[in-house]
Amino acid sequence: MALPTETVYGLAADALDPTALAQVFAIKGRPLLDPLIVHVLDLAALAEIAEPDERLAAVSGFWPGPLTVVLRRRACVPDLVTAGKPTVAVRLPAHPVFREVLRLAGRPLAAPSANPFGYVSPTKAAHVADSLGARCPWIVDGGPCAHGVESTILDLSTPGRARLLRPGPITLEALQAKLGPIEVVTRAAHQQVAQDAPGMLERHYSPATKVVLFARGSNPPPAAGKVARLFLSRRPSVAPAEDFHLSETGSAEEGARHLFDLLRQLDARGFDVIQAELAEPVGIGVAYNDRLTRAAAR
Ligand code: AMP
Ligand code: MG
Repeated sequence: MALPTETVYGLAADALDPTALAQVFAIKGRPLLDPLIVHVLDLAALAEIAEPDERLAAVSGFWPGPLTVVLRRRACVPDLVTAGKPTVAVRLPAHPVFREVLRLAGRPLAAPSANPFGYVSPTKAAHVADSLGARCPWIVDGGPCAHGVESTILDLSTPGRARLLRPGPITLEALQAKLGPIEVVTRAAHQQVAQDAPGMLERHYSPATKVVLFARGSNPPPAAGKVARLFLSRRPSVAPAEDFHLSETGSAEEGARHLFDLLRQLDARGFDVIQAELAEPVGIGVAYNDRLTRAAAR
């Protein structure tokens, strides 16, 4: 069943049932070596699938919310969830619809984004219907997602070591204020240590249309063909049919919320290239830039 979360729409299945999990991989066309995030209602449910870590007390104030933590797993977690690794990624989501389904199911739910593997994540129920169609039997419409980019992933599976695997709505600064220094795993490093977070590919979240980036506040260079320009903030436009903006004010929060929706809309309109403006690399601007950079990778 596809369900809304505060980040993006997820394709949820019983995290302890290998048959249900296999359906998720099949529907998404997701490689089996890409592990899933498991969603639980509370810390008691978390303790049933992951081993305790004293640092959880420091970050549990971000829950329920858009933070995923990688911990050592318990034996009940199927290999399909963890890609055979000794760790499991867990999160307590905040969305009331997702929480209600967790309560009704009484089970942890694995839920990757509800889109074909590699494509732009869905932030509205219609996005799920557009890209998964009849392959997804049930979609719960909870309206547009509040954050619009995927959760922050923090790896706490090694004692004495904290690593940021994916930037997201909970910022590095906010996490460091609770935990002290955190290593940031760069995209380049991910290529080398692919087994650490196999889904963190250089190219991901990608529309079919070519995406080219330009710096915040600058003007994109002239380009050949039918060009869409995607600005973070509204600009005096010379070609209203081909100029788009994500936020009236240039807020990165608003930009992140609308980014995947705009990329999908533009992808359906037959442009040769989408020129997209980067954000200031602070706060959620880091996650926004990360997703745009992956969308632009070829
Ligand atoms: P998503 O596709 O948004 O559901 O995010 C899933 C991503 O979480 C995967 O592609 C991995 O990068 C990361 N992840 C999930 N489980 C683990 C794990 N056990 N260790 C490290 N990263 C993980
Ligand atoms: Mg995904």
